[in-house]
Amino acid sequence: MEKIFNNTQVAFSLKSDTELDRAYFLFKMIANQPLVRIGTAVTNFALKANLPVEGLIRATVFDHFCGGVNEVDCLSVVDKMYTKGVSSVLDYSVEGKEEEDQFDAALEMTLKTIEFAKERLAIPFAVFKPTGFGRFELYEKLGEKQVLTLEEQAEWNRVVARFDLVCKDAHSKNVALLIDGEESWMQDAADDLVTEMMRKYNKEKAIVFNTLQMYRWDRLDYLKKLHEQAKNDGFFIGMKLVRGAYMEKEMARAEEKGYPSPICASKEATDENYDAAVRYMVDHLDLMSIFAGTHNELSTYKLMELMQAKGMKTNDDRIWFGQLYGMSDNISYNLAANGYNVAKYLPFGPVKDVMPYLIRRAEENTSVAGQTSRELAMIKEERKRRKGK
Ligand SMILES: Cc1cc2nc3c(=O)[nH]c(=O)nc-3n(C[C@H](O)[C@H](O)[C@H](O)COP(=O)(O)OP(=O)(O)OC[C@H]3O[C@@H](n4cnc5c(N)ncnc54)[C@H](O)[C@@H]3O)c2cc1C
Repeated sequence: MEKIFNNTQVAFSLKSDTELDRAYFLFKMIANQPLVRIGTAVTNFALKANLPVEGLIRATVFDHFCGGVNEVDCLSVVDKMYTKGVSSVLDYSVEGKEEEDQFDAALEMTLKTIEFAKERLAIPFAVFKPTGFGRFELYEKLGEKQVLTLEEQAEWNRVVARFDLVCKDAHSKNVALLIDGEESWMQDAADDLVTEMMRKYNKEKAIVFNTLQMYRWDRLDYLKKLHEQAKNDGFFIGMKLVRGAYMEKEMARAEEKGYPSPICASKEATDENYDAAVRYMVDHLDLMSIFAGTHNELSTYKLMELMQAKGMKTNDDRIWFGQLYGMSDNISYNLAANGYNVAKYLPFGPVKDVMPYLIRRAEENTSVAGQTSRELAMIKEERKRRKGK
């Protein structure tokens, strides 16, 4: 496969020199582990103490990784990215809520983004998180097959109703809907519910997409079993394939509680597992649609090669590539320039509420040594190219 991701001119075609400089200093800062740790602690404290730090957060990490504080703010970013063929997935990134009115607010926001998506080619998917619609502990309890109290059963019925409402709405508006994957100890209950939604709303094509976190060694088997169900019961499978964002937490919990780690034994094993799932899905596109959510260039090239080997069009609507806003523009923009379907998650929400998301991004860019150096190398290269003109 021709290597296309090193073209920094295409990658940063939307960034002014000032924006490029800002990105450079941001990634330099994030690369510094102690700074991220201290910065995170100070920021959390300052926000809790109502100190005026929002402006600082906005000017640095927030504006780099988020589209705005509300969905309307995001539209200028959406339109700008689409001029280069890169689509958006509006991601209401408010996390860690526990109250019914907050779940209803997330539901309303998801319905709003489905409506936005219906009206705009630039927004091909909507997205939500299972714990945005219901309490983490409730999923956990169900996953462990514990008996719910009457009150909890009523609470769960409301979660099911929220899922059903958004999936039904997405289906009637013909907007594909991604459902994020979270911690393994709440995921079983979410998986069962999403499978029900697929069974109900994916009869003609994949509208509802679940997520497979391929750092889990059991997920390929899970996919194969789901495939059997889909064949038997006549529904399509939509899957977002990711490696997984909660590795440290997963390993720590397994160790603490003394059960085998659900995570693959090494990074290489995760990579192989990821690519195997992509291969399996590409071999069964008669029933499956893929959203490959990854910043890994090799995995991306492998999927492109598989498409080429099968003689598929680059923009076959069953295959989408996805990256996060503020990361791996070299992949997104070069994919789009070469005619592939690509969408970036565009997080939004009040500054205070998207902090968990931002902290995950900062930590990910710190701990995944390769990612920050890749971003920095690309930005440096582009700065050099522009100076040399
Ligand atoms: C569009 C999009 C949507 C996403 N949605 C979700 C989601 O719903 N749920 C979710 O959990 N994450 C999600 N993510 C994040 C994703 O799971 C990864 O954390 C992130 O993309 C980094 O993985 P990578 O494939 O880009 O590449 P890489 O940088 O090649 O891989 C890093 C990943 O490899 C795995 N890994 C690293 N070291 C080891 C090790 N020693 N042993 C085993 N595995 C290891 C970890 O998963 C780590 O995050 C999403 C990412 C994108 C781009």
